[in-house]
Amino acid sequence: MNKVDIKNLSLEELESFLHGLGKEKYRARQIFKWIYQKNIIDFDQMTNLSKDFRNDLSTRAYVSALKPEIEESSSDGTRKYLFRLEDNACVESVLIPDEDRNTLCVSSQVGCAMGCGFCLTGSFSLERDLTCAEIVNQVCAVKNTHEIRNIVFMGMGEPLSNLENVVKAIKILISPDGMQFSNRRVTVSTSGLLPEMEQLGNLVTVNLAVSLNATTDEQRDRLMPINRKYPLRELLAACGKFPLPSRRMITFEYVLIGGINDSLDDAKRFVKLIHGIPSKVNLIPFNEFEGCSYKSPDQSAIDRFHKYLLDKNITVITRTSRGGDISAACGQLKGKLERRKTSA
Ligand code: SAH
Ligand code: SF4
Repeated sequence: MNKVDIKNLSLEELESFLHGLGKEKYRARQIFKWIYQKNIIDFDQMTNLSKDFRNDLSTRAYVSALKPEIEESSSDGTRKYLFRLEDNACVESVLIPDEDRNTLCVSSQVGCAMGCGFCLTGSFSLERDLTCAEIVNQVCAVKNTHEIRNIVFMGMGEPLSNLENVVKAIKILISPDGMQFSNRRVTVSTSGLLPEMEQLGNLVTVNLAVSLNATTDEQRDRLMPINRKYPLRELLAACGKFPLPSRRMITFEYVLIGGINDSLDDAKRFVKLIHGIPSKVNLIPFNEFEGCSYKSPDQSAIDRFHKYLLDKNITVITRTSRGGDISAACGQLKGKLERRKTSA
């Protein structure tokens, strides 16, 4: 009999699994608390369950956990974790400290199918979706040693193309019986899959970040192939309608690529594009990587773009590249795909 990994079950799914064993609903909450609040993964230590029940559980289920295979820390305090999964695939998470408010950047897929030309993860095709357990376990593993304030789905992969598992993981993260994160502290970042964006909003209330990265369809078609399916006008209309947690704004991410999308004209078009959508903007200077023909922007271009937005009263942050010395910056996560491919 294949055992069920409890970390792949939402609270409701655990309730119905336990119902099948003739157990009461509240038992699911008890088990969730052991796992997600006390970090206990051995049924034998769940002392408010009877011995028979614990034995029964261990014949039918187990609780998975991940341990980082490699943990690197950068001179600026950023920490990168590499996790090896059951099938030997690898994913990475990054912990970014900011005035004691750590943000954990988690992965949702091994590789990515979206093929954005400026993204290292995208230069590898999609190997597979992560399971709910594999997503949640990145958080559990890091939380063992570090307090985490914010969770962002900005690691490897396009979270909305793995919607079911991402939503289930978010429900566990924000459940009062689960990991107890405020939904105002969880952000999903997407390249703009419109139907899934709408579904996400219907299924769960979290922050949304949209990787805009271009100001014309022509430019975005080239940088992000998904734009050919869901062009800018439709994307921005969907952003305006997205149901966010109260008093939260959508985040537009814009990767500034030297000589490609960093001109003053781009800044002007950008302001027009997002006009009327309550939002804040993250400017991300492009991180170069080996084999990529795009270049980082000049500091003067970054400053010009930033200042133009600021002058138009837009809330803008230019993300300083964190963890550069350990390749933990955005768009530099790739796990050990490369090595796996060559050794396969
Ligand atoms: N797939 C999702 C989330 C993962 S990518 C998305 O695209 O939004 C997270 C962020 O990293 C995105 O905003 C993406 O535009 C940015 N990014 C990708 N490659 C980058 C690079 N080489 N330099 C800087 N940012 C990059
Ligand atoms: Fe995938 Fe996001 Fe990278 Fe595009 S930017 S290839 S959607 S991870």
